[in-house]
Amino acid sequence: MNEFAFASIKTIKDALNAGKVSVKELASYYLQRFEKHDGQLGSALETFNLDSLSFPKSTSGPLAGIPGILKDNICQNGRITSCGSKILEHYRAPYDATVVTRLHESGSFSLGRANCDEFAMGSSTETSAFKKTHNPWNYDRVPGGSSGGSVAAVAAGLVPFGLGTETGGSVRQPAALCGIVGLRPTYGLISRYGIVAYGSSLDQVGIATRTVHDNALVLSALAGHDPLDATTLPVERRDYTSGLNGKLPEGFTLAVVENALEVEGFDPEVYTLLNDAIKEFERLGARIKRITLPMMEHSAAVYFMVSRAEAASNLARFDGVRYGYRSPSSQSLTDMYTNTRNEGFGLEVKSRILIGNYVLSVGHADAFYKSAKVVQGCMRDEFLGALKECNALFMPTTAAPAFKFNAFGDNPIQMDLQDYFTAAANLTGLPALAIPCGFTREKLPVGFQLMGRDLSEAALFQAGYAYEQATPWHTQHPVLK
Ligand code: GLN
Repeated sequence: MNEFAFASIKTIKDALNAGKVSVKELASYYLQRFEKHDGQLGSALETFNLDSLSFPKSTSGPLAGIPGILKDNICQNGRITSCGSKILEHYRAPYDATVVTRLHESGSFSLGRANCDEFAMGSSTETSAFKKTHNPWNYDRVPGGSSGGSVAAVAAGLVPFGLGTETGGSVRQPAALCGIVGLRPTYGLISRYGIVAYGSSLDQVGIATRTVHDNALVLSALAGHDPLDATTLPVERRDYTSGLNGKLPEGFTLAVVENALEVEGFDPEVYTLLNDAIKEFERLGARIKRITLPMMEHSAAVYFMVSRAEAASNLARFDGVRYGYRSPSSQSLTDMYTNTRNEGFGLEVKSRILIGNYVLSVGHADAFYKSAKVVQGCMRDEFLGALKECNALFMPTTAAPAFKFNAFGDNPIQMDLQDYFTAAANLTGLPALAIPCGFTREKLPVGFQLMGRDLSEAALFQAGYAYEQATPWHTQHPVLK
């Protein structure tokens, strides 16, 4: 069975089709891997009992028989959806998110709930109220976040794919730090029905896999219009793997965003590996352009404002009346609201609610929230302008490899800067694909990202696949404790 730990989805499907293994045996195998390794890794908040799994009937869908793990802000009917927060610790989802239904329709099923930063707020999975998730390459380091649990589980070969959410980089950043592939699709490509909202103008489901081909398969199962989510685009379902032929798209021009590589404090080893990746694209036949996108420099600040404002609005619903935890010891209704939120939310979430309400408050909204929205619009214009002259943008995913636990304990701004390169995709709504491009001398993974035009996922996959097949990074895996 051990050949399945790091196998591609295609290999697993072939084995299932050839009758070498049954869906139930496969599920049991991965659950045993969780049992063996996850005590130390900490990627899952819960794995489901083998007998309670809902195996799908479809044996022909793109993910027939393939299990995944879902970030714990995605509703799975009848299961807990805690969002990594005490306030929802015992909350059970009354219905399936559309992505869960689509996974099922495509033949897939879920093995559990993955750890994450509380309400997806963070870049290290350290703000989870429940546990730490470790980086499978080095247990002294964080996996990144906020979808750190989904990503670490996939990187560790505990499960073939994971779903996370992306508000500012929460799948791509951990994917880079754990050496796997992470997609943030175009805003509106995947339904958010049944996903606990964080920043509604930024949120998308993201996909974590070990290879580009696997990622394209999972997107094929999930993408497309959903009448239950008015923000989804009128996009037909399609097979995103069909263009993966190992070659770059015809006449592929890659624009290297130079000012993103010249940021102060950039890790020199990461810098070298990114430049090697650019050379590899050149070798594969890409025309390389060098451009600057001055608006990039505002991305972390704009993201800070917009995400906090939207978080404050979205989290207002957790008041002890409608969902989850209610403080037991209150004298009045107002007391109950205050105590519930004070006892239920962690520090990071509370600080974001305070900042969000501040930037939205009378007298401050124009200076903060509204100006941030204006800059956000300018960013999109600038990125779209650049993408008229090229097929994709080449950017770092992070400026450094995975950091140690509590690395920024007394400097939270440093943690916020983790979003520096990734937030641009969320703010502009454009798709971005994070791909591994090597290891530091300490054997910590490093990655880059390709950003494309609206709905250019197929082209990003094609280019990413060509790069991946020409390099050995996806064949290397961590040794687990
Ligand atoms: N690190 C970012 C934040 O803390 C991104 C989170 C996300 O994409 N969910 O908000």
